[in-house]
Amino acid sequence: MKKRLILVLLLLAAVTLGLAAQPAGESTPTWEVTEQQTAKAPKYVFMFIGDGMSHVQINAAQVLKGNNTKGSVSLEKLTFTEFPVSGLQTTYDATSFCPDSASTATSLSSGYKTHSGVLGLGIDKQYVGKNIAERLKEQKDWKVGIVSTVTINHATPAAYYAHVPSRNNYYDIGVQMANSGFDYFAGGSINKAEDGGKQSIYTLLEEQGYLVTDDKSEILSLSSKSGKVYAQSPRLQDGGAMPYAIDMDADDVTLAQFVKKGIDVLDNEKGFFMMVESGKIDWACHANDAASEIRDLLAFDEAIQEAVAFAEAHPDETLIVVTGDHETGGMTIGFASTGYNTAFNILENQKVSYVAFDGIMQEAIANNPDLSFQEALVLVEEYFGLVPPGSKASSEVLALSSLEYSRLEEAFRQAMLPKGSRANDQLSYQLYGSYNPFSITLTHILNNKAGIGWTSYSHTGTPVGVFAYGVGSEMFAGSYDNTDIFAKLKSLVEVV
Ligand SMILES: [Zn+2]
Repeated sequence: MKKRLILVLLLLAAVTLGLAAQPAGESTPTWEVTEQQTAKAPKYVFMFIGDGMSHVQINAAQVLKGNNTKGSVSLEKLTFTEFPVSGLQTTYDATSFCPDSASTATSLSSGYKTHSGVLGLGIDKQYVGKNIAERLKEQKDWKVGIVSTVTINHATPAAYYAHVPSRNNYYDIGVQMANSGFDYFAGGSINKAEDGGKQSIYTLLEEQGYLVTDDKSEILSLSSKSGKVYAQSPRLQDGGAMPYAIDMDADDVTLAQFVKKGIDVLDNEKGFFMMVESGKIDWACHANDAASEIRDLLAFDEAIQEAVAFAEAHPDETLIVVTGDHETGGMTIGFASTGYNTAFNILENQKVSYVAFDGIMQEAIANNPDLSFQEALVLVEEYFGLVPPGSKASSEVLALSSLEYSRLEEAFRQAMLPKGSRANDQLSYQLYGSYNPFSITLTHILNNKAGIGWTSYSHTGTPVGVFAYGVGSEMFAGSYDNTDIFAKLKSLVEVV
């Protein structure tokens, strides 16, 4: 008994000493989890999903944002990697450890496993139940916003309002979007909006009372008085998506601006739920283009800063969750030919995304159908900074080795052939995937020189991180499954 008392006293002394050791006046971090925060249910919930974003993508952004020149290494944290709570989720679906966005987003939004390609329906393509956004709308009359850098009827955003047997049923998904009653859709366009002469989804949205706009000044003047809104990027790229951040200019509307306007449109006393997807992190990872992927991830982080600013103004009422749906590309930091070295700073030499470079090449070939490899190398230097062996480069790393030069020459030869005449053996697929052989060889070479490796043109089974801040954020600590994210949210916001 006496022994126990001494132990308690010792413990008390240790706690007191520990507190005293903290320098006087040091303020508590603003996002430290407090009991007061956990006592209430959040009224404003942000769900940020970086499509294809695992820890490697996140850390690559921290490395590029920091400093990685020869002999100098520093890392700069992102807004969401500073959040007080982090967790880890498994992403497998009903039949695969390398799942797709339809099944994983369904798990996140609705809490059950399904097949790759299936949206908002169970394994037998039967209706299982409403997703978190639909429940909040119906049971609590919250406003709902769905934002994505890709098309709004693409798999991830659709998992928050649609129930269809295939993610490719774009038109049906669009009809369900128009009938959702949700309050704010923003970002990319609508895939197959007319689908061979059917009534346009844009018209259906207008009939349901939505303000549909792709005018930048009109988008930037949206407010809580705007009613229901579909705000589309003024400029589209890559099949109707927002342009890559690396390709944006002052005329574009950024993801952060769409989120800020979403907050303005949705802000109301009852509450709101906003899902924000950065979908082209995934697309750039499919194409093994690290510079474009990282720029989109940094733009995603800027969008998260808008939610943090809102949370700071509503500290006891807001929850922000940031996660990925799966990893894409099998990205690694560290590559065979660079060993233990990395040189991320050379990624700064890439001026456009792979898809924009494909457009630049197409234009060059249209102007000169006999474009030679030597002439193409001028564009390579301009947009990737890479120069032939022996020539003077701004950095020694940027000179192509003779092996890289011959790889690039062969890729150019393949790219100049009509698609049907290109080599399609196993080795060619490993080298180029289904991408333009020239641009993907350029991103491979630049990425490898930076110390970045890729193992796939598809999704992988790497678990993904979860980062949380605000009311109820402590629920997201630890290791769990993607379906648990729905369960955690559901219990926090008190819906059935
Ligand atoms: Zn993907």
